Formats: sequence, structure tokens, C-alpha cells
Amino acid sequence: MRNIKIGVLALQGAFIEHEHMLTDLGAVCTEIRQPCDLQGIDGIVLPGGESTVQGQLLYKSGLFTPLRKLISDGLPTLGTCAGLILMAQEISSSVAHLGTLPVTVKRNAYGRQLSSFVTEQPIAGIGNYPMIFIRAPYIERADENVEILAKVDGNIVAVKCRNQIGLSFHPELSENSNIHEWFLSQCEK
Ligand code: GLN
Repeated sequence: MRNIKIGVLALQGAFIEHEHMLTDLGAVCTEIRQPCDLQGIDGIVLPGGESTVQGQLLYKSGLFTPLRKLISDGLPTLGTCAGLILMAQEISSSVAHLGTLPVTVKRNAYGRQLSSFVTEQPIAGIGNYPMIFIRAPYIERADENVEILAKVDGNIVAVKCRNQIGLSFHPELSENSNIHEWFLSQCEK
């Protein structure tokens, strides 16, 4: 076991799968449902699911303001799919949620016909990775200080900006734990 406690936002969506992967890598996971759950975490995962619902639940639970502050203050954060949408500063044709990551995302960017697909593509610093997309967003615009880690068909699908990692796809549903391992190493710093 490693001496590291990761909060996994557990309001809605694919949070259990992140917990399994992080626990297998030796981290302790705690489910975040209310502000007191944020105590003492070394990093946080914002899972995939439905960003509109998650955004509403962030307000209802009282998590919105303390969570936004922790991320802005530098807490290592991994946002996947809907989690990336929650972090984005702008969402095309919609209102932003936490707005901590200086990018514009497009929701359901692959349309209905190609709503879900898998592709193996290189990620900077990680190598080839099996990316699972489910009604995924992509990033239409990123500020200059955002590192672009991967593109698929010319569209940005993975970024890092200081403490925040944002992914269009679902690493927790793959068998490859390299992204979670990399995230844990950021949390250990
Ligand atoms: N389409 C969802 C949204 O807009 C995201 C899908 C996902 O997280 N797999 O929130």
C-alpha cells in the first residue's frame, strides 16, 4: 500500500471503476459526496457520467465552492469525459461548471452515429494507450499554458495544465493503468 489518499467524486457516473484501478495501484480511495469528505485528500478524480447532472449535484451537495477552491489551489485532479467537461472554462453552447481548466470543450462531439469507439493512440509521456470514448467531448480550444498530450483525428483529447489532467476518454475502463499510475505519481509529489 502507498501512503496516498485519493478522493473520487461519487455523485454519479463511473466512479467505482476509478476506485478499483487506484486501489489496485496501492492508493487509498475515499468517495466524495459532501464537503467534509474532501478532508486530507492528496488528489481527486472527477469521473465520466453525465456532466449536467453532476454539475447540479455539485451545487446541491455544497461541494461546488470548496472543490473549485481546492483545484484552483493546486490539488492534483484527473477529470475523465464528463469530469473534463466539469473542469472546462468554456463549454460550447452551454454554461461552464467548475471552470478551472482553460479550455473550451464540445460535448457529445462525435455525434450520435459514432457515439462510442475505441482507438489506440500515443499520449505524450505515456506511450500508446487504448482510448475508450463514450459520447465523448473533445477540446476545441486550449490556452497557451495547456500542454496537449494527445489528439485523435486532429482533435485534442488529452491535456495537462499544472495540477489538472483532462481526458476525453475513459482510462478506468481499459486494462491499462499507466495513466492512473502517472496521476498517482503527481499526487505523491
Ligand atoms: N456525454 C456526457 C456529457 O456530456 C459525457 C459522457 C461520458 O462521461 N462518458 O456529460
